[in-house]
Amino acid sequence: MASEAVKVMARCRPMNEREKALGCKAVVRTESARGQCFLQNPAAAGEPPKQFTFDGAYDQEHSTEQIYNEIAYPLVEGVTEGYNGTIFAYGQTGSGKSFTMQGVVDPPTQRGIIPRALEHIFESVQLKEHPEKGVYVKGLSLHTVHSVLQCEQIMETGWRNRAVGYTLMNKDSSRSHSIFTVNMEIYTVDERGQDHLRAAKLNLVDLAGSERQSKTGATGERLKEATKINLSLSALGNVISALVDGRCKHIPYRDSKLTRLLQDSLGGNTKTLMVACLSPADNNYDESLSTLRYANRAK
Ligand code: ADP
Repeated sequence: MASEAVKVMARCRPMNEREKALGCKAVVRTESARGQCFLQNPAAAGEPPKQFTFDGAYDQEHSTEQIYNEIAYPLVEGVTEGYNGTIFAYGQTGSGKSFTMQGVVDPPTQRGIIPRALEHIFESVQLKEHPEKGVYVKGLSLHTVHSVLQCEQIMETGWRNRAVGYTLMNKDSSRSHSIFTVNMEIYTVDERGQDHLRAAKLNLVDLAGSERQSKTGATGERLKEATKINLSLSALGNVISALVDGRCKHIPYRDSKLTRLLQDSLGGNTKTLMVACLSPADNNYDESLSTLRYANRAK
């Protein structure tokens, strides 16, 4: 896969009330114009910050609208032209993955990538029904839709069904990956009156929190589940870095269910965007460093 098929961006959310009350210091700084992200180790204040360069770097000054237009729009536009696309949000619980993918209604500039992508797709194509295709996960349902509203209703049902557990990080923290896939068929008639059908797929993935177990206080079944989550996230990282590397003959898709599921949506003619979500606070330094390193492998 050509490396430009994978784009990586970082997004740092604002300090939250809890972090402010704890007197946390901001250790993440972005220079958006250069796509740079700087992370200062709070335990080594004299050291220069670690520097990472991505295809985009955004902070609290930037809205999802801007992020969509600058970096997600071309990928979704590609889907309307018949390329597959996959957008992931990666990061520890509470770092802004859902905020970025699902977003909020108010202010409208912070509506998420998912509703924006749906609107984008519905505005640009004609859709054909194909009720049988693509069912490959037990319990997964495929719905034929004709409007953005229908998509949003289906997504809401999906999110309600998503397992959400309580951990010390954040009571709403999700401990499951959420994959929303739009299968499209683009039907065109050329000037000679011949029909053409192209299929494309857009995966919108809000990954489970990437934090390490020690911080979540998980035990028993939860710990097992958390370990599996971490394994699937590292398998995903391995697949993406093998694809970006381009020299690997073996792409380890089979190492996790997540990568098996996304196999035909990673590599090939797929454009991928990874959104690395960060907390600015010094007490999340370790997690932010691991998120930035993970994102850096995808370049
Ligand atoms: P995650 O999905 O990674 O667990 P969330 O998206 O739920 O995290 O974000 C945690 C909290 O931070 C939410 O209350 C969310 O509204 C807020 N938040 C995240 N990113 C931003 C942002 N860029 N601007 C304002 N608030 C944000």
